[in-house]
Amino acid sequence: MNHATVRQRADMLEFLELCAARNIRFVSIWGDEIEKVGEDRALARMQALGLTAVGYNRIGPFDADGLARAERDLERAAQFGCDHVFLFTGGLAPGEKDLPRARRHAEEVIARLLELARGYGVKLALEPLHPMLVGDRTVITTLSQANDLCDRLGAGLGVVIDVHHVWWDPCLAAETARAGDAGRILGFHVNDWLVPTRDMLRDRGMMGDGVIDLAAMEALVRGAGYDGPVEVEIFSKDWAERDPAEVIDIAIERCHTILPTSRSVETTAT
Ligand code: ZN
Repeated sequence: MNHATVRQRADMLEFLELCAARNIRFVSIWGDEIEKVGEDRALARMQALGLTAVGYNRIGPFDADGLARAERDLERAAQFGCDHVFLFTGGLAPGEKDLPRARRHAEEVIARLLELARGYGVKLALEPLHPMLVGDRTVITTLSQANDLCDRLGAGLGVVIDVHHVWWDPCLAAETARAGDAGRILGFHVNDWLVPTRDMLRDRGMMGDGVIDLAAMEALVRGAGYDGPVEVEIFSKDWAERDPAEVIDIAIERCHTILPTSRSVETTAT
């Protein structure tokens, strides 16, 4: 479970309690939420509840502020035992129109961050975002592009496949297999694509409420060799306003109904 799904109404400590009470074993966490409750308390609670952090959100955008915090984020991700840290490049800088240049710059930054991350023993995760977000959120928009970057930059860099961002891609099957062959699929994020989608950032659907063939996508990712947890990540104004316990319960139930392997992998909920 990614804390962002319920963070509007549950701070990190509450979130961890809600997950543990439902036998969810893996969480993805946020640096800003850790700071709100205090690093020591957050880590102690996570350990006491026996939860494992897979993803740390996040490094970026790649501007002066974001990069100034990067090393601190890597250190903290390592301290929390996270498997990977998400990279969020940000979109075009103000006044910038040269997208190829922005992409080259992002690659240079990722190469530098990768050196640092290797030192901390955490992986970096490229999560291609939907192409409609290229203006203001990211310059990495396809799995193909993320795979190419991984090929060029080498060990310690992988991809996260989020259904919301890649479900439309005609190359999805081939690029998922390519990522799997390289052993670089670090995560699989689920939610759904609503029709219509009213807000590009905060109108994701609960699994089953939209048009993505989630079972087929899970089969692709599992077929490519990914055997890690399924991560529920729903950025949604509507779901954020609901009772966090109810949201998590519904998410678990939907995973068990829609995703054939989630029962054994993601949770042991009864
Ligand atoms: Zn995601």
